[in-house]
Amino acid sequence: MKIPFTLPYIGPEEIARVTETLQSGWLTKGPATVQFEQEFAAYVNSSHAVGLNSCTAGLHLAQIALGIGPGDEVITTPYTFVATANTILHTGAKPVFVDIDPISMNLDPALVEAAITPRTKAIIPVHFAGLPCDMDAIIALANKYRLYVIEDAAHAVHTNYKGRPVGSIGDITCFSFYATKNLATGEGGMATTDDESLAERMRVASLHGMSKNAWNRYSDKGSWHYDVEYAGFKYNMTDVQAALGLVQLQKLPAMQRRREQVVARYNAALASCDSLHLPYDDPRHRHAWHLYVIRLKPAMLAISRELFIAELGKAGIGTSVHFIPVPHHPYYRRLGYRPSDCPQASHAYAHAVSLPLYPGLSDAQADAVIDAVMAILAKNRK
Ligand SMILES: *Cc1c(COP(=O)(O)O)cnc(C)c1O
Repeated sequence: MKIPFTLPYIGPEEIARVTETLQSGWLTKGPATVQFEQEFAAYVNSSHAVGLNSCTAGLHLAQIALGIGPGDEVITTPYTFVATANTILHTGAKPVFVDIDPISMNLDPALVEAAITPRTKAIIPVHFAGLPCDMDAIIALANKYRLYVIEDAAHAVHTNYKGRPVGSIGDITCFSFYATKNLATGEGGMATTDDESLAERMRVASLHGMSKNAWNRYSDKGSWHYDVEYAGFKYNMTDVQAALGLVQLQKLPAMQRRREQVVARYNAALASCDSLHLPYDDPRHRHAWHLYVIRLKPAMLAISRELFIAELGKAGIGTSVHFIPVPHHPYYRRLGYRPSDCPQASHAYAHAVSLPLYPGLSDAQADAVIDAVMAILAKNRK
């Protein structure tokens, strides 16, 4: 039985809704995108949502809308997908990596203050795996030093922080609907904010800087004329993506319940493995469980992380590693960043393995993952 690391959860409802859009005569940003923006904003309790072609586009536009550019510094975590840091470079600003807390694997707020300089403009926390960052501490620092908070919520589409949905907390929050994410539209993203002028700036910047988009121009009340006030980007969502998103959003609570069941199964079985760190959770919040990341304890195991992954592969189980810390990548090393600048992230990376976790994973498949993990650990105890 081969168990892939990840699988999208697409059913007849998505196929029917996409077909409806394909037959509607409107493929790019239009009525389905507007509806998805409204329903998504309501889901995360935010006033505005801007549909985009990716979370990466959202992170870029958020910084553009907040006026971040050359000469500025933006604090973020090294333990993220490289998109977070790349978008800071795209604005001309400088990424400043602050190490993670080794338990939560999120940005360590206790280390953030020392990294703030007069040039710091924003903090981009990443809710790793779906566990929210310590937002009270991050918002307190942002208020004290007048910094913006842009959340990378690529993993956090269902996350609550002390009962507050992620998407309603920082100045701007960016979500990903990439194929592997909890809510998938293939490619896609959303930026949410309570600030109407920020939403409008992101909307305009997402469509070439045009004062009116095609959706307005070609509607009954539209006209052919538009003004370009700014050299914007082409970052808009399409109605085909939104059609998928509308159905996935309906299914999200049920998909999350299944993720939680798989996590409970993993936790119950693997709790007895003292050679593993299991993922951290905090009952004050709601974890979105995008990823289930175990970490090997090297002092207790005579097997490397690489061999552990290879053994799972031989047992037919797909895995992944989240994340290669950004300062490890050759390009960032050439910019002068060093893995040794973030020892906790580097240590976590060296021992982390992400196990399969998705709504379509059956109990039998989860048990096969558990059995394989436990067998490899038992064979390789020091
Ligand atoms: C997936 C991911 C992104 C990028 O999302 P896209 O929608 O593919 O642009 C950004 N940050 C993190 C942490 C991610 O996992």
